[in-house]
Amino acid sequence: MKILVTGGTGYIGSHTIVDLLSKGYEVVSVDNYANSSADVLNDIENVTGKKVQNYAIDLCDLDATKKIFQDHPDIKGIIHFAALKYVGESVQMPLEYFRNNMNSLMNILDCQRKWNVPHLVFSSSCSVYGNPDKQPVTEATPFKEAESPYARTKQMGEQIITDFSRKNADLNFILLRYFNPAGVHSSGIVREKAMKEVETLVPIIEEVYTGKRKHLTIFGGDYPTRDGTCIRDYIYIEDLANAHTLALEYLDGLENPGTLKTYNVGTGQGITVLEMVKAMEKVSGKPLNYSIGERRAGDVVQVYADYSAAKNDLGWEPKFGIEDIFRSIL
Ligand code: UDP
Repeated sequence: MKILVTGGTGYIGSHTIVDLLSKGYEVVSVDNYANSSADVLNDIENVTGKKVQNYAIDLCDLDATKKIFQDHPDIKGIIHFAALKYVGESVQMPLEYFRNNMNSLMNILDCQRKWNVPHLVFSSSCSVYGNPDKQPVTEATPFKEAESPYARTKQMGEQIITDFSRKNADLNFILLRYFNPAGVHSSGIVREKAMKEVETLVPIIEEVYTGKRKHLTIFGGDYPTRDGTCIRDYIYIEDLANAHTLALEYLDGLENPGTLKTYNVGTGQGITVLEMVKAMEKVSGKPLNYSIGERRAGDVVQVYADYSAAKNDLGWEPKFGIEDIFRSIL
């Protein structure tokens, strides 16, 4: 089965391509390298022994997007990762986030319809829950106010797909709400090749460990949590990648089309930022230079997953924990 992976040279996209290829899927990638590098294609080939074709185009360009489907009318599934993804940056650049994340999604849906691509898996995020009243969150937990433009693009993306699916009952959709992906591929070869300065916690901890950065500022120490720092659910990247392959398998095994399902993809473990620092210190045997600073605009206090729906329907379960994540980056 041929799958189009948008954002294929990005962090989650590249790991998912490795997983898909290892399970026998054929993959076409599209990525304009806005926050990645063509080197990732060599990494993928080194790990899998297979070459992947990438279209270096911007998905906001509808004509360029159509060209992919004209060249590959046999695409049977789309995994739509491509998006701007940093919470902090989105607060600074809201219009760029809305323009990029919404236009690219609508162009992809246009092409899905035009070329009758049966399955689409959408990269959503636990940020859609805002600051929820209860933890862990299930897929039925109502959306609260989005805390950042990034989070709002994910809420809107889900809503657009929901309306689109009502009108297109012959197509199937899965919305995967990721918690906090982290770590590097177990081969050590596929690493994130972000072009922008990293903003997420684990890569920053890694940079402090390697000396690339002098220290970690923890954003806020006065949140209403057990140690005052924010709580997240960190999921190992290979576990997350595998959820996409299982999602496609599930959709392809359905007897009737017209499915729209949503799944949390997290571990169920809520970990504070300070606990992350301690875990890294334990695994590396080295103290980590950090200080507590101001809160960051756009952050939610805490969110972690109830993933029982993904377990029941997709047969998905996380196999790795926090210490595995830190071991993978050392
Ligand atoms: N964080 C931090 N310092 C940093 C980067 C992140 O304290 O330099 C915290 C951030 O405030 C949040 C957690 O780490 O509580 C995870 O943030 P990240 O940006 O990795 O992911 P998000 O949950 O925002 O998508």
